[in-house]
Amino acid sequence: MRYATSIADLVGNTPLVRLNSVTEGIAATVLAKVEYFNPGSSAKDRIARNIIDAAERDGHLQPGGTIVEPTSGNTGVGLALIAQQRGYRMIFVVPDKFAGEKVAVLKAYGAEVVMTATSVPPEHPDSYYSVSDRLAASIPGAFKPNQFANLNGPRGHYETTGPEIWRDTDGKVTHFVAGVGTGGTISGTGRFLKEATDGEITVVGADPEGSIYSGGEIHGYLVEGVGEDFMPATFDPTVVDRYERVSDAEAFTMTRRLAREEGLLVGGSSGMAVVAALRVARDLPADAVMVVLLPDHGRGYLSKIYNDDWMTDHGFSIATESETTGSLA
Ligand code: PMP
Repeated sequence: MRYATSIADLVGNTPLVRLNSVTEGIAATVLAKVEYFNPGSSAKDRIARNIIDAAERDGHLQPGGTIVEPTSGNTGVGLALIAQQRGYRMIFVVPDKFAGEKVAVLKAYGAEVVMTATSVPPEHPDSYYSVSDRLAASIPGAFKPNQFANLNGPRGHYETTGPEIWRDTDGKVTHFVAGVGTGGTISGTGRFLKEATDGEITVVGADPEGSIYSGGEIHGYLVEGVGEDFMPATFDPTVVDRYERVSDAEAFTMTRRLAREEGLLVGGSSGMAVVAALRVARDLPADAVMVVLLPDHGRGYLSKIYNDDWMTDHGFSIATESETTGSLA
């Protein structure tokens, strides 16, 4: 009989699939690493598992302990499912602007959710940072993963994502492209691949217009999970060889094309990463092998990126593939 003894054992070993349609006119092989095959539907399952494993090893988490983290997104789902399997209590602190489906998902996994005011600055005692710090300090046996500072996050990618790409490309990978949020994905995966190739691989950071990583003006943007307005400890900028700066409009158009043309229902940061990938791939020879990481599933974006009214209300085009190919090729 072949079976996993827990859903937590099914994190990682996500497949590579070749992109065939959006790559028209490109000679290089462009492979997507589809992270929605993780049990929590995102790459964040990897860091959740590694952070919890390390906390158990280091004695920060004891049987019956509590995990407290300010997050409403993919990290929350990853932590919730691992915590549940290991018997920990899970409390998420979430700004009230995230009410709705995301919170419902966390509760469905059995997590407790504490809502805080979105409209207060981080240093305010009612902010989600302050409330999560207070809970972590006051609950006996509480542990705060702190995904923006915990180096066991990037280490999870160094130990799993990087080796998987190396193995599945038979060591032929020449380019790796990923978005940068906490920087854990690109830092851990990029460092492994740099070591494996003796520095021969090119690592490309995809960054939203408005984020600090790629330079230029800092302003708001709508693509979720990537870009920052500060430099997290989990990001090692020395692994990135070049950045590609991507607008919301480009990212969302490509996200919709990935669903319609490649059968990949993914989130907006995946579209962003593919825009960056294709810009670089356009100039590469036929023997180049590029891997672009697609962080999460598109089901969480049905009322936004995949909703025509939301797109047009926000000034984005909903033109179909044939109308957009020209501008993206
Ligand atoms: N895309 C999505 C949807 C995410 O949730 C994240 C994580 N913040 C990222 C991309 C970026 O990954 P990382 O934090 O490892 O840089």
